[in-house]
This record gives sequence, structure tokens and C-alpha cells, in this order.
Amino acid sequence: MLICYDCMEEGNNNEAVAICIVCGKGLCDEHAKRMDLPVWSGNYPAPAKVLKKELPRIMCNYCIEKTLVDAFD
Ligand SMILES: [Zn+2]
Ligand SMILES: [Zn+2]
Repeated sequence: MLICYDCMEEGNNNEAVAICIVCGKGLCDEHAKRMDLPVWSGNYPAPAKVLKKELPRIMCNYCIEKTLVDAFD
């Protein structure tokens, strides 16, 4: 089974239920963040390429922070 990467760093072995669309690491229910903010409606290049409308936008905390900083810098 796929282990949540963020939990693994804390020494836990929780099963991943989602994968971060940006970095591809496994995320458990607790660490998977659904992005419903329109942060990529502009021209942020990397995620826009892999995004498809019908897919949920799941990201890890790290990528959210990074993306939000990049988008609003
Ligand atoms: Zn986790
Ligand atoms: Zn990520």
C-alpha cells in the first residue's frame, strides 16, 4: 500500500488515499488538501499542464504553500 509521505516524516504509517498532483507523493485523508481556490486560473505554468477539469485537485501542504507563495508573490 502507498504510505502518506507527510505521516511517514512524523514516524507514522498511514495509508495514502490521494496523491499530490504537483509532487506526486502519497497523502492520507488528513494531509490531502483539496484545492478549490482559483489559484491556477492565471498563468502558473507547471500544474496547469497536468490539471484536468474532472480531476480533484489534491495537493500536499508543502506544494500549497509553495504554490500560493509563487502565485501571489
Ligand atoms: Zn498523512
Ligand atoms: Zn506536493
